[in-house]
Amino acid sequence: MFEKNGRLGEIGLEMKDVSTYYGEAQALKSIELYVHTGEVVSILGSNGAGKTTLLRTLIGMLRPRYGKIIFCGVSIEEMEPNDIIRMGIAGVLEGRELFGTMSVYDNLLLGTYSIKGKERKKIFSERLEMVFSLFPVLKERLKQRAETLSGGQQQMLAIGRALMANPKLLFLDEPSLGLSPLLVIEMMSLLSKIVKEWGISLLLVEQNARAALRIAHFVYILERGEVVLKGGSEQVITSPVIQRAYLGG
Ligand code: ATP
Repeated sequence: MFEKNGRLGEIGLEMKDVSTYYGEAQALKSIELYVHTGEVVSILGSNGAGKTTLLRTLIGMLRPRYGKIIFCGVSIEEMEPNDIIRMGIAGVLEGRELFGTMSVYDNLLLGTYSIKGKERKKIFSERLEMVFSLFPVLKERLKQRAETLSGGQQQMLAIGRALMANPKLLFLDEPSLGLSPLLVIEMMSLLSKIVKEWGISLLLVEQNARAALRIAHFVYILERGEVVLKGGSEQVITSPVIQRAYLGG
């Protein structure tokens, strides 16, 4: 159900006035961004807009110089990446970061490394079945080395591994990159299914605006480190700026 402000559910993630620098170069400028529970929120923008920097800041790989990041009511902007994963944020950065010479199974197992003790075993087998039902091909190729999978299968493995961490918020950096147009459509509907059926939120960074707008509830457009436009996807899709810059209209 949409609320009055057009957003779904409760606020899960808040980035407030977040600014991140590389040395003295400012890459994020006072970012204000919200992800509500159950939403697909997409960040669109061209090369160098700051999309990856925003994700790195969210997961503790970069420290914001200013601003606050609050997840499920807790300030996380000074936490270590592992603790942020434990809080329930997991995903795939650019390049997928799979361990190529390790098997599909071992890559999936690594997805649970931040979960402690006894809980890990239980979550591992439960999650494994859920990941297999989403991506049956991973079950078929469990013993195969990750590097021998096709591009699409590697993307599935990377997403599967992130889901093994039991996240409340999944983030993905350009999951459509390198996939055929047909696979992009399939990938987007799978992502939409994960969000609905698993009750999680998705922060989806994309250059492929058409793909992202298929499933996003809310969209932020980044340019030169700033949010220049935001809104519900039906609203954003009709904006002349978006039509011209991102949809070839
Ligand atoms: P792309 O889609 O090309 O990855 P992006 O929107 O993800 O683009 P970022 O990679 O976040 O953009 O880059 C934002 C800005 O920060 C760019 O001007 C980029 O040159 C700069 N930048 C990114 N990484 C570094 C770094 N490690 N050191 C210095 N500057 C960086």
